[in-house]
Amino acid sequence: MDLDFDQQHIWHPYTSTITPLPCYPVTEAHGVYLTLENGTQLIDGMSSWWSAIHGYNHPQLTAAAKTQLDKMSHVMFGGITHQPAVDLCKKLVAMTPQGLDTVFLADSGSVAVEVALKMALQYWHAKGEPKSKFLTLSHGYHGDTFAAMSVTDPDNSMHSIYKGFLPEHIFADSPQCNFWDEWNENDISDFSNKLAQHHQQIAAVILEPIVQGAGGMRLYHPTYLRRVRKLCDDYGVLLIADEIAVGFGRTGKLFACEHANISPDIMCVGKALTGGYMTLSATITHKKIADTVCSGDAGCFMHGPTFMGNPLACAVANASLEILEQNQWQQQVAAIEAQLANELPKIETLEKVKQVRWLGAIGVIELHQAVNMAEIQQAFVNAGVWIRPFGCLVYIMPPYIITSAQLSRLTQAIYQILNT
Ligand SMILES: *Cc1c(COP(=O)(O)O)cnc(C)c1O
Repeated sequence: MDLDFDQQHIWHPYTSTITPLPCYPVTEAHGVYLTLENGTQLIDGMSSWWSAIHGYNHPQLTAAAKTQLDKMSHVMFGGITHQPAVDLCKKLVAMTPQGLDTVFLADSGSVAVEVALKMALQYWHAKGEPKSKFLTLSHGYHGDTFAAMSVTDPDNSMHSIYKGFLPEHIFADSPQCNFWDEWNENDISDFSNKLAQHHQQIAAVILEPIVQGAGGMRLYHPTYLRRVRKLCDDYGVLLIADEIAVGFGRTGKLFACEHANISPDIMCVGKALTGGYMTLSATITHKKIADTVCSGDAGCFMHGPTFMGNPLACAVANASLEILEQNQWQQQVAAIEAQLANELPKIETLEKVKQVRWLGAIGVIELHQAVNMAEIQQAFVNAGVWIRPFGCLVYIMPPYIITSAQLSRLTQAIYQILNT
């Protein structure tokens, strides 16, 4: 592969063109393995950012894509519908928390978030009580487009650079109680105060349920989420749950909201929706909310991307959800969680390590100091694993199909490389 061309002409996620870091050429991916151009096989600890939950090149997903490709890859969704979309939305309505029965299909996670925020704004506009603020949490992450960025942690989303372009929303302190800690009622006080103070302007609360992902890999207490639901009900504010990272089993529940037994008013899913095959997302709400949205001046919901409901993506998503419906993920994720609980505490004894934490098929090692990316990335590749840290965080979220021996290779590589 022409890696020089890549370095000189191609942008990768969040990279500098002045000091580009090396990229590793991958030629194939099967099961839990990524194959490099030189034939090296790496055990994947990332699921390509939460998405490849069943592993790569899964026979059922590949077959679904090929079958659909022979029928049609894409048709417009305006005025046209098709079996893959109908099947997919039926499944989503059936599997998501109670009351979520109206689906908007979108292209990517960030767009699903934009759609959710627009739904909330149109909802209040239609009711004749326009509200323009969102309440969210520090350390949150909701995507890279403008509205998504405006509700993402100010430090991560570079609010200072985009000042003037980004609407200013309200941030409450993120939860301090870890998932496994004892609940502390003080944890909710800042959120509760901010809602009390600003609720008349707040269209919706948006948060990542239970796991704050890209904003710090924080695993928080279910009671926090229960309190948020209750407070939103008390003040008549909509609740948007961004399940894009954690939906479809990652935390040990099909959706992270289930840890708190709550149902949001609007929910976003993405990432693992197609089992990591292609981009697709969905924003799901209640018929009552959708009807209110459409009762306003506009007479409809003002959104409709070109590739909405792409049949190819829907067909693969159906195959991925069918695998989930067989319910093996539950034992797989539980086994991963048990093994992380066994193997991560040893890593916590290392000098460089501040804390380890885990939930479901997510393992997090927080360091005292940020890693040297180029160095540690090469060290992981040399150890035969694909783990991509950011800042002070080394974390893994492997495909659910990973074996116990393969998972041990991941945790051993982390131990060895941090023990230097
Ligand atoms: C990744 C992510 C997004 C954005 O999804 P993209 O597909 O990258 O646009 C939004 N919210 C959360 C919680 C995410 O993890």
